[in-house]
Amino acid sequence: MVDIQTRLAALGYFLGREGADGLFGPHTESAIRAFQQRRLLFADGVVEDNTWTELVEAGYEPGERLLYLRVPYMRGDDVLYLQRRLDELGFDCGPVDGIFSPALEVAVTEFQRNAGLNVDGIVGETTLDRLWRLHKTGPDGHVVNIPDRMNGYVGQRSLAELRISIDPAHGGADHGGKRADAPREKDLNLALGKRLAEVLESRGVLVCLLRDSDTSIPLYERTERANAWEPDIHLCLHHSSSPNPKAQGAAAYFFANRTYQSRTGKRLAGYMVDALHRELGRVDLHKHGRNYACLREVKPLAVMVEPGYLSHQEEGPSLADPAVVAGEAEAILHGIEAYLARL
Ligand SMILES: [Zn+2]
Repeated sequence: MVDIQTRLAALGYFLGREGADGLFGPHTESAIRAFQQRRLLFADGVVEDNTWTELVEAGYEPGERLLYLRVPYMRGDDVLYLQRRLDELGFDCGPVDGIFSPALEVAVTEFQRNAGLNVDGIVGETTLDRLWRLHKTGPDGHVVNIPDRMNGYVGQRSLAELRISIDPAHGGADHGGKRADAPREKDLNLALGKRLAEVLESRGVLVCLLRDSDTSIPLYERTERANAWEPDIHLCLHHSSSPNPKAQGAAAYFFANRTYQSRTGKRLAGYMVDALHRELGRVDLHKHGRNYACLREVKPLAVMVEPGYLSHQEEGPSLADPAVVAGEAEAILHGIEAYLARL
């Protein structure tokens, strides 16, 4: 807790007069919420994996460490800063997502060559200093205007031969959202994943189902497997739950951070929620930009779908009904068809 508080305070969030006292008080909770809101995370005041990763990454100031290409890729606000500077100067470094990717290394070496620096692809003091001095003085709040990830490229306009990877989230010891009297999220996600795979395959889609049994796979291993298979579209399946018993409905998420959003992801997410609302009568909870690892780390068009609330009194138990699962799968298929029809 002190570690979380120290990081929040270093980023300028107010913790009250008590400061970093190791206690989870109202000031700490509102600081966490404010941080989550600013970083486009789900603002629930709870530090789960996503928020913790963001806290660590937000703490990197430009120049604090050497930046270079390695596996796993380096991530953080210092990388984001580097991408924004290169983008402003006209070097194409791919999506401005805070990840040091091979595309960014190419941009860095091109910059170094242009600036007459030692061309090693490593960003240290000299390269940063030159980047800073070349910094164009423009209006603040510069919004990055670059093509979508992979230019929103989808292999073809028809379903046949389209490559879609499906990640039924959670599994094994990781149950996901749960309530004593409701179906377990990991089971709902798996049932939907399997059904969706069948539905898509029957239409000629090539499917990679990242898990087809109750096993736990680390998040970054899932995204690496998806990237290695090179899908056109990546779908991450969850079901929501909330302490608020009235919460119900369908939502979908696409990648966004403070400077960048996936325009094609936004469109696909929108069509999916539309279909779930129209065909299953789910409350329309809309599409939202989120800086989730499962969206950020996957190179092609990626969308996360949450078709319903397992914590809702009526909606929850119905989610385990095979007919309802089939309906969700059909709606997701129709969302993809709507997207392809408007390419
Ligand atoms: Zn989940």
